[in-house]
Amino acid sequence: MKNIVVLGSTGSVGTQTLDLVRSFPEEINIFGLGAGRNEKLLIKQINEFSPKYFSSNTDLKDHSGASFIKPEEMVISPEVDLVMCATSGIIGMDPVLAALKAGKVVALANKEVLVMAGPYLKQLTKDYGSKILPVDSEPSAIWQCIEGESTIPKRLIITASGGAFRGRKWQSLADVSPKEALLHPTWRMGAKITIDSATLMNKVFEVIESSYLFEIGFEKIDVVIHKQSIVHAMVEFLDGSVKAQLGWPNMHHPIQRALFYPDRIENPALPTFNPIEAGSLTFEPIDSASAPCFEMGLKYGTRGGAWASALAGADEAAVRLFLNGRIRFVDIPDVIDLTMGRHNEIQEPSISDLKHTADWALNDTLARYDSI
Ligand code: MG
Repeated sequence: MKNIVVLGSTGSVGTQTLDLVRSFPEEINIFGLGAGRNEKLLIKQINEFSPKYFSSNTDLKDHSGASFIKPEEMVISPEVDLVMCATSGIIGMDPVLAALKAGKVVALANKEVLVMAGPYLKQLTKDYGSKILPVDSEPSAIWQCIEGESTIPKRLIITASGGAFRGRKWQSLADVSPKEALLHPTWRMGAKITIDSATLMNKVFEVIESSYLFEIGFEKIDVVIHKQSIVHAMVEFLDGSVKAQLGWPNMHHPIQRALFYPDRIENPALPTFNPIEAGSLTFEPIDSASAPCFEMGLKYGTRGGAWASALAGADEAAVRLFLNGRIRFVDIPDVIDLTMGRHNEIQEPSISDLKHTADWALNDTLARYDSI
């Protein structure tokens, strides 16, 4: 029996994690749940899974046998075997730091924390004997391809669905609504990542995330548009051989990989893959004229220092402004670019510099729209 904590339990990856827990009541026990403001769903989850602890950003205090606790304290409990970090955005950092310093296995769906501080987090895993298991589907695919290999790959190829506006010219997107941008063609995910998919900033984050996780240079990572979302990533080795990981675009698969690692357990609740039903698979280059966030994000995000932290904070703010109707979809790259131009370079930033920079970029951006 594995004792797990699910942070972000009411979000997309959180609820899909709990779907899997329902399928494996003998193997997994919910030790703790962490939620933001969705108190109604959290209460339902507490009633169903009877965790020992919970955290929330509401006034909910102890409820039906579960005790309120801060997420940073919940994750370090000696009884915890695995922490699923399914929060979104820069707020996920503190519990991840606490869990890694306590030697825990962290299943990480929150890509922003890796973007902000990947090398620092990797160092923590070495210093404290902890582990980061990727849950994001593309890094999970790379991880599954390189497992058991003894040499560093020559190249990683990450696939992109292209998001809600794939195939459309950037100039044609001036009037698109948040509702339209939230209609992802293949993956069911939370709002922040779905907007990041539409701008392709999500792929910038995955390049940074994969570079840090697998300790491979940014220049050895390519991104291709693959609209079917069947091949999640490919890895090319020194001898020219290429491995791909594929399957239906369903987050239950990468979540289950992390929950049960290193074991593979049969789950009849998941759909069986059928290559004939999957049909033709196509791969195309990114149309850079219609992906301004991709070019700009890579330019800043791969500079080192605290640049990627600033990028994560500025992007989070821009997405929030768009979802709240304060800026247009096509303004997102300019809004981020303006904040990045105001970032003061920091040489060899500490972890508190990295956190501070992301908070600064978020607030600096929101403040320009009186939106804090
Ligand atoms: Mg992904």
